[in-house]
Amino acid sequence: MELWQEMLRQSVDSGKDLVERFSFDPEMAERLNKLFHIRINPYYLSLIRYPGDPIWLQCIPDSQELEEDDLPEDPLAEDAHSPVPSIVHRYPDRVLFLTTSQCSMYCRFCTRKRKVGDSTKINMRYIQDGIDYIAAHPEIRDIILSGGDPLMLTDYMLEKILKGLREIPHVEIIRLGTKMPCVLPQRVTPKLCKMLKKYHPIYVNTHFNHPWECTPEAKSSCGMLADAGVPVGNQAVLMKGVNDDPDIMLELMRKLLTMRVRPYYLYQADITKGANHFRTPVSVGLDIMDKLRGHTSGLAIPHFVIDAPGGGGKIPLLPQYVLGKNGNQVILRNYKYDIYTYPDVESEPGEATREPEPKVTRKKKTRKKKQYKPDKEQV
Ligand SMILES: *Cc1c(COP(=O)(O)O)cnc(C)c1O
Ligand code: SF4
Repeated sequence: MELWQEMLRQSVDSGKDLVERFSFDPEMAERLNKLFHIRINPYYLSLIRYPGDPIWLQCIPDSQELEEDDLPEDPLAEDAHSPVPSIVHRYPDRVLFLTTSQCSMYCRFCTRKRKVGDSTKINMRYIQDGIDYIAAHPEIRDIILSGGDPLMLTDYMLEKILKGLREIPHVEIIRLGTKMPCVLPQRVTPKLCKMLKKYHPIYVNTHFNHPWECTPEAKSSCGMLADAGVPVGNQAVLMKGVNDDPDIMLELMRKLLTMRVRPYYLYQADITKGANHFRTPVSVGLDIMDKLRGHTSGLAIPHFVIDAPGGGGKIPLLPQYVLGKNGNQVILRNYKYDIYTYPDVESEPGEATREPEPKVTRKKKTRKKKQYKPDKEQV
């Protein structure tokens, strides 16, 4: 058995553990355990500094998960975009491929709580169906292995999947969405890296949320992946009490760059049943973006996105940098809120405007469609 597998076996993973190690009320611990899996491996557990700290909040269950919140279990309508159980096909040219229901740590804010940890919903027996689906759809060129955490699979099983995918000529890139470099960095071994290298181009997107997670062990695992030629990106989730603070986020993004990890997305927390207590106002995310851009390396700046409720995909949000238009002068502000004007280029009459008219479903009168024309009011 490899070290990481050994460590997994020593995880806190039951209501009984919560009672014994964290003095939970036994009845509450059982209810929480029934609601969503508990697993905190000894490495991640060691990062906790005090009860209720940003690491604790991410991994130790909380009574707020039990609140009757009437929120959806599948906020992104992934099931509606799932042609076979292991595939979520929302975008034209890429798919999520759910390969295992297991994670080395169950995040309390997980958006896929309804499926993760439940092997009747995500199961290895659906893997062949997934590969067959991808093979039958030549428009799919980008595969994102997800789950659960695909690095919970053994190297042997993972290689079987990668090999299967690489036999499909239209598959261009393969991404692994894994939290392991953050939660169980011991999973990234020389043997794993050597295997991954055979199936390039491979990308990894990992998931750090707080600077305390940027340990020497984590740095070493990200470095090994980078040395194997795997570009590593980070997808963070904005969460109340964890990282909803511009200084913490700045520190996290800078630390990631020193670990050779490129910030990719910053997600607004999804509206998920049992995870509502993590949500922050949209303005908090915009404020963070405002305090990153210009104040630190452009490389440290992720895209702030909201995954549209109901399954519309990721929508980027930016602070307002365009303040208006005066004739052909575009009025802009920089990161210090200094104002600048930029003389725009007049578009030729009849030239196609770049922005399409937004699709609005009008309920009452259907008015005659007007050609979209940028004007003073509309910037
Ligand atoms: C996030 C996501 C992707 C990948 O999106 P990118 O913007 O290409 O990183 C693909 N499919 C689904 C269903 C997703 O949620
Ligand atoms: S690692 Fe990902 S899939 Fe697993 S519990 Fe955390 S957020 Fe959910």
